[in-house]
Amino acid sequence: MTGKYGLILKNGRVVCPAQGLNGVMDVAFADGKVAAVGANLTTPATEVVDVSGHVVTPGLIDMHTHVYWGATSMSLDPLEMAYLSGVTTMVDAGTAGPGNFLGFRHFVIEPSPVRIIPFLNIAFPGIFAYSKAVMVGECGDIRLLDPKECVRVILENRDMIAGLKVRVGRIAGGNSGIIPLDLTLAAAEETGLPVMSHLDDPPPTRKEVLDRLRPGDILTHCFKPFPNAPIRSDGEIFEEVKLARDRGVYFDIGHGAFSFGIRVARSMLEQGFAPDIISSDVHALNRNGPVFDQMATLSKFYCLGMSLSDVIKASSTTPAAALRRPDLGTLKPGSHGEATIFKIEEGSFEYKDALSETLDGKYRFRCKGLVMKGRYGAAPATAEELPRMFDRRIARCNCC
Ligand SMILES: [Zn+2]
Repeated sequence: MTGKYGLILKNGRVVCPAQGLNGVMDVAFADGKVAAVGANLTTPATEVVDVSGHVVTPGLIDMHTHVYWGATSMSLDPLEMAYLSGVTTMVDAGTAGPGNFLGFRHFVIEPSPVRIIPFLNIAFPGIFAYSKAVMVGECGDIRLLDPKECVRVILENRDMIAGLKVRVGRIAGGNSGIIPLDLTLAAAEETGLPVMSHLDDPPPTRKEVLDRLRPGDILTHCFKPFPNAPIRSDGEIFEEVKLARDRGVYFDIGHGAFSFGIRVARSMLEQGFAPDIISSDVHALNRNGPVFDQMATLSKFYCLGMSLSDVIKASSTTPAAALRRPDLGTLKPGSHGEATIFKIEEGSFEYKDALSETLDGKYRFRCKGLVMKGRYGAAPATAEELPRMFDRRIARCNCC
């Protein structure tokens, strides 16, 4: 490169699993893209940020969020959550359905400085009633589930929609059992897109769901506690879980308020069954705990013994593959000018899961800043100073 870089991040520990990088070096950006990665880059730059003592990764991906702010009670402000979570891409896991997707596109996704990749809910109104006061699952009435409408909206928004989302289980689907997943798979076959399936309590059973998922589909809430946990009470992994992995189904954490068990996670990791993707499922009812954000979710897996490189891979390279977006989740020169910069703080940190089981951790990841479109933005020290797309006063609901 001749001339000048726009930005150099100096002396960070660069972890980019897509390129096999893990060491102290510099990352340079120019014209909104990654320009170079290497030790002691000497070309001058308009802005130099010393990130020594910090980890520098590709712009991280949170594969399970809810950010249809203002239109759905569960959703959060995407920009605010990006800085807390340390992510430059958020996958919205089916907050919008065919009946209200256009509003999501125009009022939230298009104006957002952080990339939002939507999965379309099979249910016409999306997740329309998710609060402490009113909780009505969108799959409880199959009159709301119309694969034709899904296909129509996908075809009209092909540039944006990356998959279909369905929430099956007694809580989200009442008596509907496996029917919502079958309808979703029909729409997915018609459009060639992957399915992300939530699973809460039976019906349907874990086996009914896993046996249907195809290579490239995603099971979120994959380390859910009993019932529908991936392990028996003695810790043995169910056969259908192993078969689904062998077939190429992605196992995504989707921590959430009710869907992640520390005991299950420990047991799965001990048996060499790490999650393919680590995501938060952060929303209005869990942002003040037990989830908080993606940084906290990644911290839990680092404290549980996964290597830093494997944790980062599960929030960069692998979700990018599941999204069929090889341009994301990498610091390869020429790719999007995005990066996450965070500190691994050492101390004594107590983490909780959905059952209030605790994990005494020695580490906590804290976002220092993000690079988006080749420009650095520092994460503010206090929550009140976080940048937001929307006015928080209007967003505040009376349930949390
Ligand atoms: Zn969710």
